[in-house]
Amino acid sequence: MAVRIFHADHVLPGDAPPIADGAVVVDAEGAIVEVGAAAEVLPRHAGPAPERVRGVVFPGLVNAHTHVELSSMRGKVPGGHGFVPWVDRLVTTRSECSPDEDAEEIERAVDALAMSATVAVGDVTNSLAAVAALARRGIGGSVFHEVLGMDRAVVLRRVDGLRAELAERVPTWPGADLAYAPAPHTLFTLHHDAARALLESAERRGVRTSLHLAEHAAERRAVEHGEGPVPEWFATRFKQRPEWPKRPLFDLAAEVGALRPHVILVHLADARADELARVAAAGAPVVLCPRSNLYIEGRLPPLLAVRAAGIEPALGTDSLASNTSLDVLAEARALADRFPSVPKWELVKMATWNGARALGREDLGRLARGARPGVFCVEGAAPGDPAALLLASRAPRRVLVARVPRTGASADPAGSAWDDPPPAGARAPGAPPARAPSAKEESS
Ligand SMILES: [Zn+2]
Repeated sequence: MAVRIFHADHVLPGDAPPIADGAVVVDAEGAIVEVGAAAEVLPRHAGPAPERVRGVVFPGLVNAHTHVELSSMRGKVPGGHGFVPWVDRLVTTRSECSPDEDAEEIERAVDALAMSATVAVGDVTNSLAAVAALARRGIGGSVFHEVLGMDRAVVLRRVDGLRAELAERVPTWPGADLAYAPAPHTLFTLHHDAARALLESAERRGVRTSLHLAEHAAERRAVEHGEGPVPEWFATRFKQRPEWPKRPLFDLAAEVGALRPHVILVHLADARADELARVAAAGAPVVLCPRSNLYIEGRLPPLLAVRAAGIEPALGTDSLASNTSLDVLAEARALADRFPSVPKWELVKMATWNGARALGREDLGRLARGARPGVFCVEGAAPGDPAALLLASRAPRRVLVARVPRTGASADPAGSAWDDPPPAGARAPGAPPARAPSAKEESS
């Protein structure tokens, strides 16, 4: 099939302001050939007749932070009382849920992602249970295999065993369109030596990883002073009294290697201006999850301070345990309502191009020559700002050109990149060495 040409009332390229009376040319492999004003683009393409779109054309969305595996928690975990009551309830509710119910809700959530025009996710997972569903719907991005636990020896053994866990749960990785990276949960739920080992492992393998950082005030109190609701929760819920670092949160983040360009920092709702400046200087990608922060803590991420620091944040929904949908445009809409000074097309950029960049996927998130972002549209009149029409839209959103998932090498995350020895000091005294690959792993 030859190229397809779309002539639209408005084109929102994702990485740039809207183009009124725009055109987009897409080749048979889903790659963008050209985008611009219709008056310039259309005369250059004599081929097929342009397909007229009365509305806004935009690239596939990127939900840069979610936990699809928690989809069965939809509506079951009340918020509004802070992180610790929320996570305590989550732990209880999760333990009552059957794997069948989980699997069903994962499928439903992934369908909803696809219908919302989402083409890539940054998906945090303990179980790897959503990997197959994401691949089946052609949703790409990154899978962050998450580790948590404050018992140093126990958690370092889990770090050593991640490769075996991966090989057992996902014997054949679906392909290069979904990257795999080990990931620390937070600096108050994971021993910092394990966090450092995971971040170094991701860096060695040349992949992006993810860390929840500065989500709420209780996190800072625990890390910096060893007091407050988090240490109390560890004592009552797990009968544990971890050694708290008692150091400034962002000093600890820097020390474990989290302020680096390959580490996606999620939330920063409790970050101060000087801390945001450190994040910006480090070049670490940032993901904000406004509806989740509102749900759990009743607070918004500091969008204006983030922008003032020179950070271009991506957006994520977090999970259905703290949100009502996995539609990343609803995050942009929530910010539009509360930060009217921020141009709406920039909020769309956060849900598209900034998310693609955060995940290290420059082939996604923008209608730009050579990219393969998937092409979508929302129909309707946009007398004023076309970004407002997009932000007001609800799923399902219409597919014009389905995204063609990336293929190619480096698809097997259980492969040879794991053979590097763990960094010195990362292994607990007495812990067994990383398991040698089994025949099955070697053949996959
Ligand atoms: Zn999260």
